[in-house]
Amino acid sequence: MNKTSYVGRFAPSPSGPLHFGSLVTALGSYLQAKSKQGQWLVRIEDIDPPRTVAGAAQIILQQLHTFGLHWDGPIIYQSQRTSLYQSYIDRWLEQGLAYYCQCTRREIKARGGIYDGHCRTLHLNAASQRAIRVHCPTPATGFFDQLRGWHPLKPALAHEDLVVRRSDGFYAYNLVVVIDDLDAGISEIVRGSDLLEPTARQCNMYRLLQAKEPDYLHLPLVRDNNGRKLSKQNHAPMLDPLHIQDQLHAALAFLNHPVPEIWKNESPARLLDKMASIWDCQRINWRDLN
Ligand code: GLU
Ligand code: ZN
Repeated sequence: MNKTSYVGRFAPSPSGPLHFGSLVTALGSYLQAKSKQGQWLVRIEDIDPPRTVAGAAQIILQQLHTFGLHWDGPIIYQSQRTSLYQSYIDRWLEQGLAYYCQCTRREIKARGGIYDGHCRTLHLNAASQRAIRVHCPTPATGFFDQLRGWHPLKPALAHEDLVVRRSDGFYAYNLVVVIDDLDAGISEIVRGSDLLEPTARQCNMYRLLQAKEPDYLHLPLVRDNNGRKLSKQNHAPMLDPLHIQDQLHAALAFLNHPVPEIWKNESPARLLDKMASIWDCQRINWRDLN
């Protein structure tokens, strides 16, 4: 098989087992990678201890395996990479691009909801309960999505100094995701459309790191009967280990790739192999589903 330089990834947070919505995301990124003879990496985003559930990462990996979603290379655990994240922050602090911020959520809300750079010139010292923000001198105006086209970023948001370490001392998602994707050489990020806004902000992170952002493809979200995104917070049921095929077929149909009759009895791994050969991300019905 011809190896290409495509590297994709799936990056679940271990706040609980995978549900149908996460299966759709995993499948979309897997098929996009495999249709391009690329690699598909898995990264466990266990960087947010208050939200991490003991044992969830193991369950997620087992679920991926059961659904035939076999990953390439070693699993990356963000919790093992904090000194790398800190080294970036230290460098920005030295360069004067990062600074401590003591604004509370309530204060920011009272000032209009978007952080206005209030502490940028205050030269606050390191202290507990202070976040660290970084200032991007040349903010991005938006980014290109493979399905949706140009996604602009509201100027006020684009200019917002991003939190890189939270006031509770934990590293911010927008920082770690960019460092990890860069480090792994990810060429395209396929994830849910709930992350469209963070993506635009992450583009600023790439600029700070003087790196080119990867390609982006945001999948439509699976919603419950009330129109809410299926999520662990909304208590979406975990994938049912007794009905693997049904759920796999339903997730493929959601992505507008219904399984051809002759492949309906294939094992998950073999089915995914076949589906990768006919996968075309442009078929995804994102306009109706969003
Ligand atoms: N860990 C994030 C989540 O589960 C996904 C982050 C990403 O794909 O960049 O929602
Ligand atoms: Zn502040």
